[in-house]
Amino acid sequence: MQDCAVDLVILGAGPGGYVAAIRAAHHGLKVALVEERHLGGVCLHTGCIPTKTMVASVGLLRQARAAAQWGVEIAQAEAQMAAINARRQKVVQQLAVGVKMLLEKNLVQIIPGRGRLAGPGLVEVDIGGHRQLARANTIIVATGSRPSELPFAKRDGVHILNSDDLLVISELPADLLIIGGGYIGCEFASIFAALGSKVTILEACDRLLPGMDKELGQALERSFKRAGVQVVLNAKIATVTTDGGAQAALEDGQVFRGTKLLVSVGRKPNVENLGLETRGVQANERGIPVDDFLQTSCPGLYAIGDVTGRFPLAHVATAQARVVVENLLHAREGTAPEPMNYDAVPACVFTYPEIATVGLTEEEAARRGIATRVGRFPFAAIGKALATGETEGIVKLVAEAQTGRLLGGHIFGGHAAELIGQVTLAARLGATARQVTETIFAHPTLSESILEAAEAIFGKPVHIIPRPAAK
Ligand SMILES: Cc1cc2nc3c(=O)[nH]c(=O)nc-3n(C[C@H](O)[C@H](O)[C@H](O)COP(=O)(O)OP(=O)(O)OC[C@H]3O[C@@H](n4cnc5c(N)ncnc54)[C@H](O)[C@@H]3O)c2cc1C
Repeated sequence: MQDCAVDLVILGAGPGGYVAAIRAAHHGLKVALVEERHLGGVCLHTGCIPTKTMVASVGLLRQARAAAQWGVEIAQAEAQMAAINARRQKVVQQLAVGVKMLLEKNLVQIIPGRGRLAGPGLVEVDIGGHRQLARANTIIVATGSRPSELPFAKRDGVHILNSDDLLVISELPADLLIIGGGYIGCEFASIFAALGSKVTILEACDRLLPGMDKELGQALERSFKRAGVQVVLNAKIATVTTDGGAQAALEDGQVFRGTKLLVSVGRKPNVENLGLETRGVQANERGIPVDDFLQTSCPGLYAIGDVTGRFPLAHVATAQARVVVENLLHAREGTAPEPMNYDAVPACVFTYPEIATVGLTEEEAARRGIATRVGRFPFAAIGKALATGETEGIVKLVAEAQTGRLLGGHIFGGHAAELIGQVTLAARLGATARQVTETIFAHPTLSESILEAAEAIFGKPVHIIPRPAAK
């Protein structure tokens, strides 16, 4: 491969990098995209897509096992790990081919190697020992993240695993011990419990999914317990040892064993050996600091996605990609740049039932001194939820008391990840709870729970029996 000069060089082809490349190409920019592993990044190969493919398999398994309640007899519903893994690989492969084709058809130059900054407007790529240079006035670092490790529970790939390892496991572990009750730990707990593993989650905080609305973590804990998942909160781990399996001893003396141990305690930004120092950029433990326009301290050098440490989610990386590319065009046209807006970032947890959240929680609003009104509505009072047997769940909307503006929405229940899109759109457009009540939602749908939760803010949801007035 020859050295090249382009308008934009991007390091990393995850949902941040590859989307930035395609968007820039749409606007006529010449783009080089450097990727050392797989086009599509963590999201496509070891994150969002493969996990959700497994979630889909176990969802079907759950339904098949409960089919008799729907009046359908299924003689035997059993999970076949090999077939589940094969389907996962097929879906990933199909999407990877699609990403490659999109890049090629948009004339993005793909450079397969490890890139590092080598001076102003210069990227050096190591392609299997061969060196290639790519020059551009603008460079985007989108190198993503990797699983964090615990110093006392180092990954061995046999008994102590990270999420990448667990994803490709070929045999179902009899006992799965999980350190970390964040979204990745909870999703794996939900998957493996449904497949038949005995799952235990050790979480250091006083609730699952710390950082999200408290009620969501508590609801998930109850649901996990019903599904046989053991949840240990406030778990302070003293030691982890391996001996034909893994065991974690807590400071209070309790000991938990697993044939496999998943360590899922967050992710670390990929900032090493990127040559950031050559551009005077200082990364910290959260990642590469950027301003509201995703620019680093070095003009012309941007960072997006997990490597920035802000909302490490695929759709945030993609949204940041859009902002950077559009601002490059603003710069070309001399118009004002657009800052990144994080007011309505949805986050979804694909457990059973699902969890989805956007905007402020009641707790966060109180911390910011904002008075709120909250409306709740249970799925159990929704006709469609009864029809589909998805009655476990709640929608909670948070509105600013003074203006009625929607500040956040928090959903626990079937299809929460799809439902949250409606709340996100309303919040992003600055809608009030009153405007939500004036919107027509189709019947019978789970979406009606959003309408009724908005009505509950005013104390008058139709499908809740009113409390008798105090005498
Ligand atoms: C198990 C799991 C489940 C997840 N589920 C979800 C989900 O449901 N929804 C969601 O929104 N998010 C989910 N995520 C998070 C999501 O995967 C990340 O937020 C997203 O992939 C970040 O995108 P990115 O573009 O910043 O980086 P990445 O996807 O991490 O991609 C970075 C790319 O850069 C490459 N790279 C790194 N360094 C270099 C270099 N020096 N030169 C060249 N290439 C380099 C890497 O090989 C990689 O391909 C999940 C993550 C995991 C682990």
